[in-house]
Amino acid sequence: MFDAHCHIGIPSAQAIVCSSEPGEYDQLQAYRYHAYGLLRPADRDVDTLEQRLFADRGAMIGEFGLDCRWETDERLVERLLCLARDLDRPFVLHVVHRHDRILRLIKQVGTKSCFIVHGFTSSRQTALSYMRLGGTISLSPRSLASRDFRKLLDLGFLLESDLPLSGESLKVLDSLYESVAAAMSISRERLEERINVTGSVFTA
Ligand SMILES: [Zn+2]
Repeated sequence: MFDAHCHIGIPSAQAIVCSSEPGEYDQLQAYRYHAYGLLRPADRDVDTLEQRLFADRGAMIGEFGLDCRWETDERLVERLLCLARDLDRPFVLHVVHRHDRILRLIKQVGTKSCFIVHGFTSSRQTALSYMRLGGTISLSPRSLASRDFRKLLDLGFLLESDLPLSGESLKVLDSLYESVAAAMSISRERLEERINVTGSVFTA
């Protein structure tokens, strides 16, 4: 059972552990798959993140992105996309109601790295736009209630708890795997296989 987006907690090699600010960076090395992120970036934070990436060659970038609930300087998001492009790192996006702007930025920067759009609750159309650019959507428990949820299930996707790694996050993820397998009318084993194949881009 692979958790495609979670936060610092108990140890796990079956998870992509993301961060949202520099205060968390020192703890990330403990996780096999980890990402340096900035949810509310400031210039100096992007400098800090850049230094971490130079020193930590296996690391991904994320989470970062645009969220309608707060102002984000798009210039800094663009800088992070440029870093992903120049250092050839996978990245993890956090996007709430700002998909058009993020898609435009990715195209403008010409980022070719693979990436995850975490906690995806938008339309099939939007999912396909990300996929054309090398993106993979990741579904969280919140995605189950989204309008297009069932229309996303024939696309390649990942599953996530979006919680700090813990007994609770495992429980939440387990129940998400069960719900999605049931919605697809496939066995849990078959779903796990599919997710492992989709996730192999990020866990190679
Ligand atoms: Zn997020």
